[in-house]
Amino acid sequence: MPETTVNSGDKGAQADDRVASIPDWVDPRPWLPMAHHATADDVERALCAVSPDENTLAALLSPVAAASFMEHMARKAQMLTREHFGRTIGLYVPLYLSDYCCNGCVYCGFAADRHQQRRCLTPGEIRSELAAIEREGFEEILLLTGERMPQADFAYLRAAVAEAARRFHLVTIEVFPMTTDEYRQLAAAGCTGVSIYQETYDPARYLELHRWGPKRDYTNRLATPGRALAGGLRTAGLGALLGLNDPQFEMLALYRHARHLQRTYWQAGVALAFPRIRPQAGNWQPPNPVGERALLQILLAFRIVCPDMPLNLSTRERPGFRDGVAGLAVNKMSIGSRTTVGGYAQDAENGIGQFVISDDREIDAFLAALSGKGLQPVFKNSESVYRNAS
Ligand code: SF4
Repeated sequence: MPETTVNSGDKGAQADDRVASIPDWVDPRPWLPMAHHATADDVERALCAVSPDENTLAALLSPVAAASFMEHMARKAQMLTREHFGRTIGLYVPLYLSDYCCNGCVYCGFAADRHQQRRCLTPGEIRSELAAIEREGFEEILLLTGERMPQADFAYLRAAVAEAARRFHLVTIEVFPMTTDEYRQLAAAGCTGVSIYQETYDPARYLELHRWGPKRDYTNRLATPGRALAGGLRTAGLGALLGLNDPQFEMLALYRHARHLQRTYWQAGVALAFPRIRPQAGNWQPPNPVGERALLQILLAFRIVCPDMPLNLSTRERPGFRDGVAGLAVNKMSIGSRTTVGGYAQDAENGIGQFVISDDREIDAFLAALSGKGLQPVFKNSESVYRNAS
């Protein structure tokens, strides 16, 4: 695997420095008073809501819900998780293809001003890594890069997707924003879904945290999941990085974003993730840290208002917490994760990666923990069974 030192002085073009407007379809502000000041009656009504909406979520995210209704929320969330997902936990593996990046995201270990060795997998290395992951039995893989760079551009990504699609039934990407036509080409190459997190839905905070580079464009990023679905990808994963801003603001905006996509692309699947800031190169401290209990409340609230939506929790969280929420509210998890480039076919650990993971259990240990809770890890989903039969 070749190693190269990135020239972090080339930070990409400066984007517009004006604060973008938050569109009405995602703006959470009308529901913030409920999120901050709901009464016990509001929470009780939310727990009985037949058609959950923004008011329901706001009440369930409130301080009074945290203080007095967590057990009730947990019972309801678990019942809904079992009703819609059974006792299954869908599993996937992330594979970092490249850590070259020209962006200045203040919270990220791959930001251009982090002086470190950068790497990009060669085509041969990609094949080796994919084969190593396939041998573990997985059928879903998530390919990751930083910003679009000469070392990992669209052609490179398309070739990696095509290679992955030869081995895996589900190939999703968490990379740089693209045009609708580029997403169309990726869909033709076998890409099935995209994850693209807004990080923060507050345009002013967004501008402050994304110091330079193409990612500084709030509006472009907000429109990206829609372009991906318009280009033919079947699923879009959304999320906000917890810790960057008021979590109630962020979670209500995330909910509104998901519902907007469901209304616009009714045939597509929308999934949600709840990453929290982790230690990273640069040691940046989040202004609005979210504790485990607050994260639990968020997961329970989303399961209640979005009973059939996949909720994803990564190895950012510690083993005990992941085991506790698996099957309670969460139905999808990453496993065996590396946040450095490569690392499955050979020992490629190099620094702390994009962030420090918290659950570093081997795959067998994680599967044993799920089985011990009566949960069934799912490597192969019903869609792949259908594709095999067709
Ligand atoms: S979060 Fe993504 S775009 Fe931002 S610096 Fe890290 S790798 Fe680059």
